Amino acid sequence: MDKLLRKVNFDKLIGSVVNRGGRFIAPSLDARQVVFKAVKKAEEISFDHILARNSYKEYLFPQTEVIADFTVHKDGIDLQGRDVEPSTTVIFGARPCEAESLSALRAVFTWDFIDEFYTQREDKTVVLTVACTKGDEACFCTTVGLSPESTSGSDVYLKETEGGDYIAKAITDRGRAFIEEHAAAFEDAKDTKTKKLFMPEKIAGIDLARIAERLSKKEHYDDPVWARLTRKCIGCGACTFVCPTCHCFDITDEGMAFGGERRKNWDSCQYDTFTLHASGHNPREFQYKRWRNRFMCKFNIYPDKFSSKGCVGCGRCIRVCPVRLDITEVMEEMSK
Ligand code: SF4
Ligand code: SF4
Repeated sequence: MDKLLRKVNFDKLIGSVVNRGGRFIAPSLDARQVVFKAVKKAEEISFDHILARNSYKEYLFPQTEVIADFTVHKDGIDLQGRDVEPSTTVIFGARPCEAESLSALRAVFTWDFIDEFYTQREDKTVVLTVACTKGDEACFCTTVGLSPESTSGSDVYLKETEGGDYIAKAITDRGRAFIEEHAAAFEDAKDTKTKKLFMPEKIAGIDLARIAERLSKKEHYDDPVWARLTRKCIGCGACTFVCPTCHCFDITDEGMAFGGERRKNWDSCQYDTFTLHASGHNPREFQYKRWRNRFMCKFNIYPDKFSSKGCVGCGRCIRVCPVRLDITEVMEEMSK
């Protein structure tokens, strides 16, 4: 049976998660922007916004983390891997589009190597998705086959009631267990009316099958359309950092002469050093080639290799881009 989660019970729910050693991540106003962050009280949560500026991926895949320690001595180097001991992470307020992104991250982090830093965190994460009652011109989930009614990737799917509370539906066993564990915060839902969902209009000029077909042919590599459409990109990488499916990272050793840490840091395919070889040769020496790579990753490589979506239509990259390079314009052009 569906449950009712009242706003007045959020403190109870957060307390119940935190008292069990977990962390409660929710959209919260910070420096005039709504971002996902750990909260301790309901009053810190933003309930009235379109989409948090950042993706919640950073709670499963941190921007930087130590994965090993090394010491240098006269007989060689000792490298000691760090263990991941994640606590339960509850993500409240994910949107249905970004909940879908976890399957893309899981696919890449378990592809040729099991990255336990990611998988162990994801295994202890509970995603409470809130269906969208408003959106903006950057939202295009319906164009990539999703909608505010999509439940894939959610453990619990929430719809806002006319009175501002939430109807909660468990989608997975993890979601059912979560509601049972924190039962004091939930009530049985009676006939409660929910708000109308915001459905972004499908962009008529975009055809994902045609894009995939065009990208599957190598001739597109030399298509002048790439340089024309992406000339204004300044390679800042903001689009990749906010994207819920982008996952590139680099490994660096940081320390002193006799020891230090090995770190895993976010990287971006939009940086000019991303594919720079030690020889000085760079196979993606121009920005448009780096942009082409990003687009290929989302609309050719992910769907082909992992059968997952590389783009969930959240529109974050459009909102943060300092030069207003809109991925849907490239999608339209590539659909022709
Ligand atoms: S490419 Fe842009 S619209 Fe697509 S998932 Fe990433 S941030 Fe969202
Ligand atoms: S945010 Fe815009 S300018 Fe920055 S790398 Fe992405 S497309 Fe280029």
